[in-house]
Amino acid sequence: MEMLINGELIDLDEKIDVLNPFNNDIVGTVPLGNSEHIKKAINAANDAKIDLNNMSSRKISEALYNISNEISEKSDDFSKLITLETGKPISAAKDEVKRSVDTFKFAAEESKRIYGESIPLDAGIGGKGFLGFSIKIPLGVVGAITPFNYPLNLAIHKLAPALAAKNAVILKPSLSAPLTAIKLSKIVADYFPKGSMNVVTGRGSVIGDELVSSDLVNKISFTGGVEVGKRISQKAGMKKITLELGGNDPLIVLGDADLDEAVLGAVRGSYLNAGQVCIAVKRLIVDHNVADEFAEKITKKTLKLNVGDPLNPKTDVGPLINVEAASHVENVVNDAIDKGSQLLCGGERKGNIYMPTVLDYVKSEMPVVNSETFGPISPIIRVNGIEEAIKVANDTQYGLQAGIYTENIHHALKAAKEIDAGSVMINKQSTFRTDNMPFGGFKMSGLGKEGLKYAIEDMTRTKLIVLNTN
Ligand code: NAP
Repeated sequence: MEMLINGELIDLDEKIDVLNPFNNDIVGTVPLGNSEHIKKAINAANDAKIDLNNMSSRKISEALYNISNEISEKSDDFSKLITLETGKPISAAKDEVKRSVDTFKFAAEESKRIYGESIPLDAGIGGKGFLGFSIKIPLGVVGAITPFNYPLNLAIHKLAPALAAKNAVILKPSLSAPLTAIKLSKIVADYFPKGSMNVVTGRGSVIGDELVSSDLVNKISFTGGVEVGKRISQKAGMKKITLELGGNDPLIVLGDADLDEAVLGAVRGSYLNAGQVCIAVKRLIVDHNVADEFAEKITKKTLKLNVGDPLNPKTDVGPLINVEAASHVENVVNDAIDKGSQLLCGGERKGNIYMPTVLDYVKSEMPVVNSETFGPISPIIRVNGIEEAIKVANDTQYGLQAGIYTENIHHALKAAKEIDAGSVMINKQSTFRTDNMPFGGFKMSGLGKEGLKYAIEDMTRTKLIVLNTN
């Protein structure tokens, strides 16, 4: 597939293969763009600003609705492509496409609600007889950098609000899964002035760096890991940044919890997309009074999961993105077992597949839980009561989302108040997101919020206009 720069499809001799993580077959190739290509895309986006600003909000909204419809019509193609390039089970890929259709609809709705306000200037000294009102204007050019795990909806969470607010976009997708983003960008570009939607493929360390450092780019919206996020915040200079980074989300299960519901939440949260989700449940913090029963129930459910070919509609857990990712999970699980954790099921790697794994008697300081493990594992940390549960939940550099299962409203609200994370779910696991909610973590999990209304707010500037009526 080609890059899209200033309305032109660009191919190059130098290419990179995109592999199917399940069987390592080549799914497609993309050109390996360099700084010359990213500069061209930035200039094109910068030039497109005027035509884009001249589009009425009504036309922008119609365009976003039309894109939503087109994605819906092509949902089978999109789902299959997501599965082929990421290894995500087809059922989950279909869910991602459904949400993507919705994300564009939310953007279409929000594009009609970009309001300024009137300011009572006469409340200030010297303000008598002056009328003031603010308007929201676009930033100009938005650089969007996305990870491999949700190649469609996470790209849309950047380009849909950017275009809704009349900003031109340059998208740099993950090199592990760039094909879906290119297919999407071609559709989007047809509805906007030439140069408004560009997609450039190439190495993050080359073209990503160039995009982040450019003075012509007014905002970087990044989703990915903490290390790259830190680099972006150092290189971005005087531009806005939104960072949606990693997570190490806890799920607390107290002694009075509905255990069957908690187990269901834990299984869904730990194994969705083989655990390669920023808001996957990465630590199960379970009260010792119910830990034996919880461990038995979650092991039973884990053993029932279908593991294998992600194109099979019955598959629950597919491969990890590549063998390095699978080997990393294998290493941290083996390390935990060596240090005294008990393996209840799984613990085996078959190529890029890591079998869904339950570990009991895990300690907070073990690498399997003290950094973000992107894999299908359920590590149980046993605790005594709510105080210790919250302390363990907060014992991490991350703060994306969290969940607690309890029938005690006081304990639920205490956890909601005291867990240092962007969202806390009560009687639900952290793996919960609707596309209109404010989404984004605290601590090393990031800066700023996504969710259409919130992303649009961050992709506009406030201009004040003052009228002298004296
Ligand atoms: P990653 O390695 O950080 O890569 C993310 C993107 O950054 C890729 O497009 C990558 O390009 C690019 N990149 C690499 N170096 C760069 C640089 N110096 N400057 C600018 N861009 C650069 O992340 P990943 O492995 O794809 O995704 C997994 C991570 O994303 C996990 O930590 C996960 O928790 C996080 N994530 C967070 C959220 C959220 O909303 N909070 C959602 C999903 C995922 P290349 O592919 O060319 O290296």
